Amino acid sequence: MSGDLPIFDPGSFALTTQEIALTTRTRELAAGSFAARAATIDRDARFPTENYQDLRAAGLLGICVPLEYGGLGATYRAYCLAAAEIGRYCGATALTFNMHVCSCLWSGVLADGLDMPEAVRAGHESRRRKHYARIVNDGKIYSQPFSEGGAITAAAGTVPFATTARRVDGGWRVTGKKIFASLSGHADYYGILCTEIEEGESLSRRRSLYLAVPAAAEGVKVVGDWDPLGMRGTISRTAIFDDVFVADDEAIMPPGIYHQAAARWPHMFLTLTPTYMGLAQAAYDFTVKYLRGEWPGVTDKRRGMAVKQHNVAHMHLLLEQTKALWFQVISEARIDPSREQLLRLYGAQYTVMENANGLAQRAIRTCGGQSMLKSLPLERLYRDSRCGALMLPWTADICIERIGHLALYRAGEADE
Ligand SMILES: Cc1cc2nc3c(=O)[nH]c(=O)nc-3n(C[C@H](O)[C@H](O)[C@H](O)COP(=O)(O)OP(=O)(O)OC[C@H]3O[C@@H](n4cnc5c(N)ncnc54)[C@H](O)[C@@H]3O)c2cc1C
Repeated sequence: MSGDLPIFDPGSFALTTQEIALTTRTRELAAGSFAARAATIDRDARFPTENYQDLRAAGLLGICVPLEYGGLGATYRAYCLAAAEIGRYCGATALTFNMHVCSCLWSGVLADGLDMPEAVRAGHESRRRKHYARIVNDGKIYSQPFSEGGAITAAAGTVPFATTARRVDGGWRVTGKKIFASLSGHADYYGILCTEIEEGESLSRRRSLYLAVPAAAEGVKVVGDWDPLGMRGTISRTAIFDDVFVADDEAIMPPGIYHQAAARWPHMFLTLTPTYMGLAQAAYDFTVKYLRGEWPGVTDKRRGMAVKQHNVAHMHLLLEQTKALWFQVISEARIDPSREQLLRLYGAQYTVMENANGLAQRAIRTCGGQSMLKSLPLERLYRDSRCGALMLPWTADICIERIGHLALYRAGEADE
């Protein structure tokens, strides 16, 4: 155990009993086991299989499975806080874990608040019971490949998914390609978004389907290699679906409900940030330990120079600003957020993703050349944190675009 304090002090941030229990469990697991494995997972660009065995044994694969289905029943905020503690010690594990957890969070807590006719909800209940049983009882892992590449990508939310589902007896036939399919070759199910084809109609975002495609199904293929700058353990290769049969009861959300969720519960997309909140904290923690001569194997104290103290002060400010905004936004996550909450939401996404890398950059500058050797974690934190601002649907540039528009235009307003 590292002896690291929680990122969010339970007393100061008035954490709930559930939040304290879950953040303690993830921090102990990640600090105790994942941290030591992170370097080789990164160097070899291999999937953190052992970490998933540990997550499974700790019951954490079901963190967002509702209690009545045998899971841990984490709230949205409790999940975010717990996941940040994982990101602090292994970015690739936290990021892939998020892809898995979203299948439960979106079909669970989020779906419960969405409008559905009674019969549709009853169908959803029976289908999700099956998904959750696979996770809780059988330890199965879900991934979440949405991205398709191309000049205008559906993952940004503006055009329909090009991956299609054709209705057939008992289910659908799915055809398409997903790029950056994290957990490819390692997930048991690919939770894909696709568009149901309507005869004679062009593809519509309203007909988005969120389906669990069994990794072993005929027609599923993983292609290409994975040798990126950062987040190397995510194994985000390309998944191909060639006329794959997917049964009716593999719908993770009822047809059309993803579209409603994306429009009314936008905080659902913020769940990529806990990983990077953890990385931001890790860059700061490393710097303080390194300069105090407390990092294992680095015993010289390097804290005496004023310039280093100034830099650490700037890092401290950046971290506290990031934490404060993020904590507010994960606390106010809800259906149908106000305009101000939406502005803060995009602001939090931008801030966490940019500041995580900003902190890692400043950490290297402050600690110096010896700190960026591969024997230390800082250069990995720098590379992993660089990936946050690229992630759809809310890249840093898309956040800026939306904040600017939302700040200047009220609903329905347009220029002549
Ligand atoms: C480590 C890692 C893991 C990932 N894992 C997954 C995963 O599991 N599942 C998944 O679905 N995806 C995943 N992604 C993919 C990610 O979300 C993006 O889809 C991917 O990075 C897009 O790459 P691209 O080259 O197509 O960039 P583009 O989408 O072409 O983006 C390039 C630039 O164009 C801007 N841009 C793009 N679209 C718009 C728009 N509509 N409006 C304004 N500006 C726009 C962006 O801001 C960006 O600056 C992962 C990415 C990384 C880095």
